[in-house]
Amino acid sequence: MNTAFAVNAFTFLFLAALLASTGTRLWLAARQVRHVRAHRDAVPVSFAGEIPLVAHQKAADYTVAKVRLQMAETGFDALLLLLLTLGGLAQWISTQWERAFVPGSIAQGTALIVTVFALASALGLPATLVRIFGIEERFGFNKMTLKLFVADALKAILLAGVLGIPLLLAVLWLMSAAGSYWWLYVWAVLMAFSVFMQMIIPAFIMPWFNKFLPLEDPALVERVERLLVRCGFRSHGLFVMDGSKRSSHGNAFFAGVGASKRIVLFDTLVQRLNPGEVEAVLAHELGHYKLNHIKKSLAFSFALTLASLFILGLLVGQPWFYAGLGVQSQTLSMALLLFILVSPVFSFFLHPLGTLLSRKHEFEADAYATRHSQAQDLVHALVKLYRDNSSTLTPDPLHSAFYDSHPPAATRIARLRTA
Ligand SMILES: [Zn+2]
Repeated sequence: MNTAFAVNAFTFLFLAALLASTGTRLWLAARQVRHVRAHRDAVPVSFAGEIPLVAHQKAADYTVAKVRLQMAETGFDALLLLLLTLGGLAQWISTQWERAFVPGSIAQGTALIVTVFALASALGLPATLVRIFGIEERFGFNKMTLKLFVADALKAILLAGVLGIPLLLAVLWLMSAAGSYWWLYVWAVLMAFSVFMQMIIPAFIMPWFNKFLPLEDPALVERVERLLVRCGFRSHGLFVMDGSKRSSHGNAFFAGVGASKRIVLFDTLVQRLNPGEVEAVLAHELGHYKLNHIKKSLAFSFALTLASLFILGLLVGQPWFYAGLGVQSQTLSMALLLFILVSPVFSFFLHPLGTLLSRKHEFEADAYATRHSQAQDLVHALVKLYRDNSSTLTPDPLHSAFYDSHPPAATRIARLRTA
């Protein structure tokens, strides 16, 4: 029998996990749609008077449209994963590259992995276009032109090539040459790379996509500087970013580490919030820094990466791992590729743990903000952001517990009001 692969117990484990994770995703999405629609016609009591019914209904329709697109993507991703693994596509691509490069070499492995990711990105393009030029456009958030979209995409491809390919070459080289503790060396390289990226992103990469101008409004600058002194925070710049050239959604964030650390406000945020509200939003962001949330999240992801690489180290020598996923080429690059493709199926069920930690941090940052600025200002800022970004005020509790990095609007506001 000329089967492309030998079905084994791992095949069934993989299929069961894929079915369970895809089924759970679709079930949670259906719950979210149902819940949001059921609450579409009444603004929750705690927001009555601040958010008009039309805005609440728009948020409901926007949420439902986004979730429906995600449902289509979930189904598509599951099919693509099956096609790549048991369907034999990854093996076929690997075989094609064996004609150009030495089978199992670093060059052949790099070609295989780059081809699969390029293919997956290209196939994901229609959904991205629907999101930006369909949904975001229809609800009035999109400011991106097709020309800007293409320019962004070309820059992203160039960056992925310039930064990603050398990293991939280094990882594959270590896997083949560094002995049985290669996973430890790969981990060290990945961590060094991630710190390096944190350092260069604000100064060298972000300016390629956006303009950063120093915050000008003298009253706001003074107010923010007083806040920074109060919180004992030294930043290396206070910038306004032209986020409005892509989207009318507003945001604020901190970027960089060490000497490149800077505070960035979206122009859309500065336009819509009054100085007190901007201060309260920044106090919240400062809270994340001061309470070491950034470092904790980084440590968490470093530990997770180490655990993943350790598991990959065990899997590379197991023929059942390759055979069970439909491939014959038992090369290191194939192991790495399969691991990157398949591990999300298994780790999906750990998702609520990450979001639980994140929501805990959000509550702590809110509490920090109320100690260093006015709680009322943060409430007003959040209500404006929920309204202007059309964020749903009535998420399904289970969907929210699984995915939301921020606490549900009503819970968060209620806690701030009693502060
Ligand atoms: Zn936060």
